Amino acid sequence: MIQTVKGMIKPCEMGYTMSHEHLCLDLSKVRKNDDSTYGYSNTVIKEIEKAKAYGVKTFVEVTCNDMGRDVQQLALLSEACDIHIIAATGFYLDEYHPDFIDEASIEEIAEIFLQDLTVGIDNTGIRAGVIGEVASSESMTKNEYKILQASALAAKKAGCAIVTHCQLGKLGNEQADIFIEMGMNPQKVILGHIDLSNDLEYMCHLLDLGFNIAFDTIGKTAYLDDERRAENLKYLVDKGYSRQIVLSQDISRKSYFSKSGKYDGYTTVLKGFIPRLLELGVQQEDIEKMLVSNPQRIFNIEK
Ligand SMILES: [Zn+2]
Repeated sequence: MIQTVKGMIKPCEMGYTMSHEHLCLDLSKVRKNDDSTYGYSNTVIKEIEKAKAYGVKTFVEVTCNDMGRDVQQLALLSEACDIHIIAATGFYLDEYHPDFIDEASIEEIAEIFLQDLTVGIDNTGIRAGVIGEVASSESMTKNEYKILQASALAAKKAGCAIVTHCQLGKLGNEQADIFIEMGMNPQKVILGHIDLSNDLEYMCHLLDLGFNIAFDTIGKTAYLDDERRAENLKYLVDKGYSRQIVLSQDISRKSYFSKSGKYDGYTTVLKGFIPRLLELGVQQEDIEKMLVSNPQRIFNIEK
């Protein structure tokens, strides 16, 4: 089953799924501005409705404990827009961590995740359906290492997936090593932002280890243009890896909303990128895997 903010649904109900998004977050403490502060509002509802018009039915909302997560607002968005939202538990990059992480053991951190996954978040009774986005900086800090270990511990017990943040697409190998060491099934892990690495050999290596990778920064052309992203993806699909890839656009700033007129917000993947893939000769069947059947399989809670 898939655990959403409104309860359990069957995997077959998910439809087109954006595997790494933020619909409600607050990163102002670190970013020192309010571009990354938004949530339940007419603006966000309109942005979601636009994605819905392109066929999006499910958002994996990986805003975690130290990113201003608010599951009650997610439940309201889910209700208002009639879409599925999977909420997350986790801790993000080191600079966001609460102070107690310094002293906490792997087991204690895993216990926080398990509470969110099995009992509920912030006494709401709303449960997380995934661990994410657990992160590593350009060089991994001690606390980030500990949190990745705790994620594996909790995910194994809960039977859920882990979604990660690899800063600029780097350190996928280091994250993979931790998960393998912890006995985590790589098929339940999505290594995030790997598209940003622009390194096909590295991607193939992670895929050969059994991990899923995300092309989840689609539209962030300041880092890498989408033409290159699409060519890289076509290469991987031709190699037979479409079963291990998921897609998203990781919107985390209001300035990326379609309202800005400069970006396509939550429609980026379906509006511009999928047509580009089709033009390159990627088959619809492979696109369906990346948007539908892979998320169905990966986010399924396995008891
Ligand atoms: Zn993210």
